[in-house]
Amino acid sequence: MITKWIEPLITFIYPAACRECRHMIGIGQVPYICDECWAKIEWIEPPWCQRCGIPVGAHDALTANSPVICSECLANPPPFGKLRAAAFYEPTLREAIHLLKYEGKRVFAKHLIQLMQRHLPGDSSGADYDLLLPIPLHKKRYRKRRFNQSELLAIAVSSAWNVAVRKDILLRVKNTVALSRLNSQPERVETIKGAFDVRFPESIQDKHLLLIDDIFTTGATIDEAVRVLQPANPATIDVLVLCRTRMPNGNQSSNGRQYLKQS
Ligand SMILES: [Zn+2]
Ligand SMILES: [Zn+2]
Repeated sequence: MITKWIEPLITFIYPAACRECRHMIGIGQVPYICDECWAKIEWIEPPWCQRCGIPVGAHDALTANSPVICSECLANPPPFGKLRAAAFYEPTLREAIHLLKYEGKRVFAKHLIQLMQRHLPGDSSGADYDLLLPIPLHKKRYRKRRFNQSELLAIAVSSAWNVAVRKDILLRVKNTVALSRLNSQPERVETIKGAFDVRFPESIQDKHLLLIDDIFTTGATIDEAVRVLQPANPATIDVLVLCRTRMPNGNQSSNGRQYLKQS
């Protein structure tokens, strides 16, 4: 009887219902998302495609030519060297990133940074890179949000791998709408065109670069960043993101890809 009115009161003063599953969250846990939902995050483990990092079946990895390249990368080689993602972009991370970016819940900055540091790709290390470049926000959006989530993740990787972060090289010069609001890939590609500029190109010549972003969906943003960086002739441009969709087209469906983890 008491809990009937006490529960809404607690929820009012403390955000106790999980945003994802609506179960109550205990005091002392990360607010807004319950421990059960955090445990549902699907971390990406090898064997994976050497290029795009998508998990490949263990059987495929054993029988395929070495290094393992997925059918998508064979058909359409990505413009970057390799991409690694810590996890799939599924409800828990989608909610956590949304709470951080669009609802200003800064508590998730620390939490997502810790997740990134705990799940750095095992086939890469700080020795592979000279510079970390976070995907920048336009200054207007930065002023509004007061942080850039990609920069926070880059700082997290920097402290784990001891590689310098440079946020003065890749700049966002066009304030686009959020690409996540656009459904079609041509629309995304057209919108992001010309969004970036490169300063101090001489400082990245022959350097091994790692681009860092929070989410990889269709790749439109990363492709455009790589396109503007390439004329400066860096030795490599790899990509590291916290999470990615299952398919390169931003689709979560697993149909149609030859080398997909069988679950
Ligand atoms: Zn939950
Ligand atoms: Zn691939």
